[in-house]
Amino acid sequence: MSVQSSLDQQWARVRDRLKDEVGETAYRSWLKPLTVGSLEGGQVRILVPTRFMRDWIRTHYADRIRALWSGENNLVQSVEIVVAAPVRADTAPPAMESPSSAPAPVAREEVVAELVIEPVPASANGDERADEMSAPLDPRFTFENFVVGKPNELAFAAARRVAESHSVPFNPLFLYGGVGLGKTHLMHAIAWAIRKKDPSRRVIYLSAEKFMYQFIRALRFKDTMAFKEQFRSVDVLMIDDVQFISGKDSTQEEFFHTFNALVDQNRQVIISADKSPSDLEGMEERLRSRLGWGLVADIHPTTYELRLGILQQKADRIGAKIPQKVLEFLAHKITSNVRELEGSLNRIVAHAELVGRAITLESAQDVLHDLLRASNRRVTIEEIQKKVAEHFNIRLADMSSARRARAVARPRQVAMYLAKQLTQRSLPEIGRKFGDRDHTTVMHAVRKVDELCGTDPAFAEDVELLRRMLEG
Ligand code: ADP
Ligand code: MG
Repeated sequence: MSVQSSLDQQWARVRDRLKDEVGETAYRSWLKPLTVGSLEGGQVRILVPTRFMRDWIRTHYADRIRALWSGENNLVQSVEIVVAAPVRADTAPPAMESPSSAPAPVAREEVVAELVIEPVPASANGDERADEMSAPLDPRFTFENFVVGKPNELAFAAARRVAESHSVPFNPLFLYGGVGLGKTHLMHAIAWAIRKKDPSRRVIYLSAEKFMYQFIRALRFKDTMAFKEQFRSVDVLMIDDVQFISGKDSTQEEFFHTFNALVDQNRQVIISADKSPSDLEGMEERLRSRLGWGLVADIHPTTYELRLGILQQKADRIGAKIPQKVLEFLAHKITSNVRELEGSLNRIVAHAELVGRAITLESAQDVLHDLLRASNRRVTIEEIQKKVAEHFNIRLADMSSARRARAVARPRQVAMYLAKQLTQRSLPEIGRKFGDRDHTTVMHAVRKVDELCGTDPAFAEDVELLRRMLEG
């Protein structure tokens, strides 16, 4: 079989899986038009027809594509989305039609649910255009699927309020926070909720980038009147990632007018950005101040509890059996943002399904070694030894001494255990750093500490505390 045709078949399987996960509508809008380029140096290139689509796929599906694909083919380490016309005819590989790829009952239910809340086709011409203007909504981004915790409770409550009230509670609602913390999720959730409750209300959701493209296109086709009309006749306008139009003066100008027109007519406007209105550089002062007039709600970086909650919800939703220990491990380790967190969970699940083995802490660490290495780079075995010795009040030299008294041996085992967990060192390497001990001694230490953590809560707490200090 040629490399290309086996790549195509892998893609067909990945695509089938994605289709089950995201539902028919999102699949048709985003995934069906993709074609496979090449696999080089562990990187798969996927071709998309437009830049807009590239960005959307990158932020919404690339992680998942990579996870599924590396499950299909472990040579695949990353996925690059590039804009290009498809080079080959889009021949559907046989895998597409195979009965085994039929969606599971659960997935089918999801598709039905999604169809129910599809926007009702609007009657008037203007309405249709407005709906066309809106970017597709991700069926997974609902309020039900959003896990609430301290860092996002204000944003969540504000989003609910906007979605539920018939008046306009605050205008605009301005959501801001770092990447991957749930801004887009909340906006889609608002749109789904409004469409479900009152399909006659016209809701437009689009990225600031798309707003700009539409505007530029309207300028080019001398169609700005129609452009203005479309926006100004909506009930709810959501613009995502508004920082994108920083420094783009004429787009800002147009946006400002659209914004004012809508607010004046008491239509709801919802904006997201990566910074607060006052910190948006490259934005005109009058626009910045106007954006801060309503309710400004920030989403803070996630906490351990929130990450664990999100992992639990996600594991339940996909029906995967994942030991609590593994979820806790991920919640500890993947702290950057929720997208990464979900990506790592997906990878673990995909891997376990593929090799047909249960998920364990070990397998999770293996599958994620590249991600974990990045977050572990700073901790060295020497630091671990030092911290652990301090904590248990023993001499640093005893980390490598031959003494076997429990008061010394136990802390040494803890240090070995942490060295295994927090660094990428192999068992023999770790053994060498502890007075040239054998790798089986390290293995024994790791098992022993694991076992004690399970039976002795006070000990487990000690270990946990040390881990947190070392990860700092
Ligand atoms: P942002 O727009 O802020 O960059 P997204 O809304 O795209 O982030 O979120 C990234 C991913 O994380 C999405 O898959 C989203 O569903 C998920 N996510 C973020 N916050 C939560 C949460 N609180 N509960 C459940 N999923 C979340
Ligand atoms: Mg976003």
